[in-house]
Amino acid sequence: MFILFIQGRNYDFYLARQKDLRIFAEVLSLYHMKKQELYDKIVSIFEEKMPVAETELHYNNPFELLVAVILSAQCTDKRVNMITPALLHDYPTAEAMALATPEVIYEYIKSVSYPNNKSKHLVGMAQKLIKDFGGEVPGTMEELTSLPGVGRKTANVIMSVVFSKAAMAVDTHVFRVSHRIGLVPQRCTTPYSVEMELTKHLPDEVIPKAHHWLILHGRYVCTAQRPKCKDCYLKEVCKSFPKESLISK
Ligand code: SF4
Repeated sequence: MFILFIQGRNYDFYLARQKDLRIFAEVLSLYHMKKQELYDKIVSIFEEKMPVAETELHYNNPFELLVAVILSAQCTDKRVNMITPALLHDYPTAEAMALATPEVIYEYIKSVSYPNNKSKHLVGMAQKLIKDFGGEVPGTMEELTSLPGVGRKTANVIMSVVFSKAAMAVDTHVFRVSHRIGLVPQRCTTPYSVEMELTKHLPDEVIPKAHHWLILHGRYVCTAQRPKCKDCYLKEVCKSFPKESLISK
């Protein structure tokens, strides 16, 4: 009798647990579906409103883009575009830049942020391109991040723009806009975790363009201080609307 009682209790417990697990699975799938629906909606809105989305850095070849992206760290694209014409006129290739000294390069780039470090990085990057990659810009994360001045974000930009790979560079705009819209959860507190979350939900073929969508949206609409929520075409689906619009008044 006692054994039957225990077995009965265990069985009830087992059924209750199964029910809990079923509910948990349903909630999880609902959450995932809603999340994916949000992604699909955002992609379709951006496709319609911003069919062409490209980097605003000026460049003619992969080497020029790599130089510009290294210079753009903590600096505006506008400022970088002002200084690259003279620099790349005099040092148009990895071969030419590898022979320069950081002191000479510094004179060309002194109006950008961190010119001391960046001039050393540019010369070091050019020398490594010659030594290890035949003067060509490589296309993998491992190879790119072996170059001085090239971190994960810069490598992702090069892989995405030059090699059309499904690489998502997370800068300050991508980080902020992804959080505000609700594309990534609050627990994503690092650029790497935001990158992982975005690449998990976005289709591979869309990722290179999505990087520019989020940057351009952050630069001109969903700005850090006063986001233009009322004019924003994402307000219908944005998690932060109208909260941000009230703050930005
Ligand atoms: S509604 Fe406001 S917070 Fe949301 S994406 Fe647009 S500008 Fe940013």
